[in-house]
Amino acid sequence: MKEVALYDTTLRDGAQAEGVSFSLEDKVRIARRLDAFGLDYIEGGFAGSNPKDMEFFRVMAREPLQRARLTAFGSTRRANRPTAEDTVVQALLEAETPAVAVFGKSWTLRVRDVLRTSEEENLKMIADTVGHLKERGREVIFDAEHFFDGYKENPEYACRTLEAAARAGADCVVLCDTNGGCLPHEIYGITAAVIQRLGTGVAVGIHAHNDSETGVANSLEAVRAGAVHVQGTVNGIGERCGNANLCSIIANLVLKMKISCSAAEHLRELKSISEFVYELANLMPNPKAPFVGESAFAHKAGMHVDGVRKNPRSFEHVEPETVGNRRRILISELSGTSNVFLKAVEMGFRVDRSSPEIREILSRLEQLEKEGYEFEAAEASFKLLIQKVLREHKPFFDLGGFRVIVEKRAKDEPAVSEAVIKVKVGDEVEHTVGEGCGPVDALNAALRRALTRFYPQINDVVLTDYRVRILDPEHATAARTRVLVESSDGRQRWSTVGVSENIIEASWEALVDSIEYKLFLENEEGRAESQDS
Ligand SMILES: [Zn+2]
Repeated sequence: MKEVALYDTTLRDGAQAEGVSFSLEDKVRIARRLDAFGLDYIEGGFAGSNPKDMEFFRVMAREPLQRARLTAFGSTRRANRPTAEDTVVQALLEAETPAVAVFGKSWTLRVRDVLRTSEEENLKMIADTVGHLKERGREVIFDAEHFFDGYKENPEYACRTLEAAARAGADCVVLCDTNGGCLPHEIYGITAAVIQRLGTGVAVGIHAHNDSETGVANSLEAVRAGAVHVQGTVNGIGERCGNANLCSIIANLVLKMKISCSAAEHLRELKSISEFVYELANLMPNPKAPFVGESAFAHKAGMHVDGVRKNPRSFEHVEPETVGNRRRILISELSGTSNVFLKAVEMGFRVDRSSPEIREILSRLEQLEKEGYEFEAAEASFKLLIQKVLREHKPFFDLGGFRVIVEKRAKDEPAVSEAVIKVKVGDEVEHTVGEGCGPVDALNAALRRALTRFYPQINDVVLTDYRVRILDPEHATAARTRVLVESSDGRQRWSTVGVSENIIEASWEALVDSIEYKLFLENEEGRAESQDS
């Protein structure tokens, strides 16, 4: 089976994306996580030009990666200067990485107008730099910048730049579509021609950008034409429209093209890798992202839901579990009784398709959606709603009320929050105080403290996400607010929703649902066990 090396440049090209800035600590965490995921190369940053990147290389040198080859990125030496005295080349060596990526010019336009040197000198710059680094024991990857544009204008010269690198000992020459303007058929044709010309002496790689929205397609076409090294970033983050998205590339290589690559055995971690990088990049995950997005296997139209229930292959191109994702049946007022019925069945309720309860659930759903609730991302709240309609809902606790104080004592002191709540469990009334770094945190602390005596299992519950959406921003601070809370007990994750004109009250509602859901889960499990025995 053909094998392809995976080269990640999230920390270098990805970090050039608008709105993205990784701290040193973020970079170290991402590098270690991608290493464990099984990538072959992790490009850490620019050698020389950036003190943060050099510090990153120093940190990584003390505790090297387990599997992946850390790579420092830099340019060929400057024109008409000795290689050994070139500061970028020196920095590439000082990074002390096992591999280095050197970019050089392969487009005559760039040689003439940007480097302002001769075509011959440019070839020497490539050969000297690659040779110098090879002599010092580095694996050398030559990134031929603007290769495809260069090839279209002067194929002979573009190929000579690759040959200069290969003859000087480069381990891999990478054809870069730096401007992202090429289409898949062009990438295929040019890559195939280059590989035929270069022969088997040197590996050929691809570095694609997404400006024509074909970054992934271009990468796959290059592989089909014979490339054995693919560069990209997690989630496709990068300058302008981004780089080729490694998440989609990996899934397609493994699942569709049956190509062997090191990350194949970790494919089930793909979604969590994507989420991890989004989080550290401080970007909202793209729900529509193929394979890893929340919506990638979400079915809403009644007919699709029915089809997937009968045979998942009818509306799913791969099994969601293979990439760590999951199928979701969406419930909304649009979906009608059939989806509500299937959702109830999926959630383990025994109910008749044409029962009045199903219609009752749908009508409550419609009412709540009008008020601003949204259950697609808050299935636990929806499950509680079904349960309240279908079964005699036994409340685990009654809420008396709460009070929250936020106090800032001095300008340079952080504000502190305190919450007092009253809850009733059975005949006992609990009055408790909780503190937190914010009002929601304080409420959460007080609620747990009040209930722990009765339900010690809620100690396992942690809030893993908290999201706020303003529903009618034209009302400014009096707008309705929807709060989504995600919780986990280490085994399961669930999401709950609250809506109010008051953000604290909306948060409170979602928090209470979260705790109720945990107790409800335990109850269900207890019920299932007693049925088994
Ligand atoms: Zn790039």
